[in-house]
Amino acid sequence: MAWHKQDLLRNIERIAVGMAITRPNGTVEYANAYLSKMLGVRSGEPVELPLSLFEPRAGPSGQDESRRQPGTGETKCRELRVHSSSGNMLDVLYAVYPLCDDAGVVTHYVHFLQHLGDERQLERLSRLAFYDNLTGLPNRNLFDDRLARAVAVGQRNRSAFALFYIDIDHFKQVNDTFGHETGDELLRAVAVRLAQSIRASDTVARRGGDEFIAILEGVADQPSAACVASKLVTACSEPYIVRGHECRITLSLGASYYPRDGHDAATLLERADRAMYEVKARGRNGYCIEESPSDYGLTAA
Ligand code: GH3
Ligand code: MG
Repeated sequence: MAWHKQDLLRNIERIAVGMAITRPNGTVEYANAYLSKMLGVRSGEPVELPLSLFEPRAGPSGQDESRRQPGTGETKCRELRVHSSSGNMLDVLYAVYPLCDDAGVVTHYVHFLQHLGDERQLERLSRLAFYDNLTGLPNRNLFDDRLARAVAVGQRNRSAFALFYIDIDHFKQVNDTFGHETGDELLRAVAVRLAQSIRASDTVARRGGDEFIAILEGVADQPSAACVASKLVTACSEPYIVRGHECRITLSLGASYYPRDGHDAATLLERADRAMYEVKARGRNGYCIEESPSDYGLTAA
């Protein structure tokens, strides 16, 4: 069945998806009525899109690759938050597709913005509330809840667990040497190694900055804790290739046990934190089980 351009345009005007066509320089040539409504723009007034979020990555020469080389404009799609002209924030699924001429040069971009429903917004909000945005690991809130549960289970079942407090050594130097973005990527890579080095039933979380914490269920004695601590310290000290740079880091890890070192979350955290600072004071790159001098397992720098 034949289709007509006019019919298509009429339908684009009616669909419940925001749509716009821009030139490569960002000038909006067309915006459908739904997009204007979504962004709170009155009919006839110009529509502005958060185009900076989709700027193609600059090439080694600093030039915009998609404009310098014909046909390299990529399709991009991601969830993001946009501001309406009334100041409301909207969570949208935003997709941008390049339109090319016969020579493959990008002449326009087509933008689609789909408003995510309340359910998706709730899901997104609860993710933000319980998971760390940078690494995807549980955040401090979720960790505190898991730790409270571990204590409750420990009391009921008379079972033990270990708590690890981990801080990356001299992490500022990574930022200073390679830049903050490389630092961020390195934090993500460290998070992956930590998560891969413990059991799926254990929890590792990012407490903030370059600090991580872990609950190791059923780890009840010093040799078992030392074995896991050594595994984590060794795994994370292997070199990383981040944005073309070889980076090396070491960890300082302090541990405490339930019930040996405390019967509540705050005491266990404080003990593990103190043990971690003991490792820092003794030269970093290693682990320590609180309150027992023979438990220092410093590894060679
Ligand atoms: P130390 O051995 O004493 O731990 O030294 P450090 O340089 O690691 O210092 P500290 O742990 O006190 O500070 C952590 C540094 O990590 C501070 C900041 O420069 C950096 N940092 C914190 N959060 C982030 C982040 O989200 N991204 C990046 N790239 N760096 C961060
Ligand atoms: Mg540090």
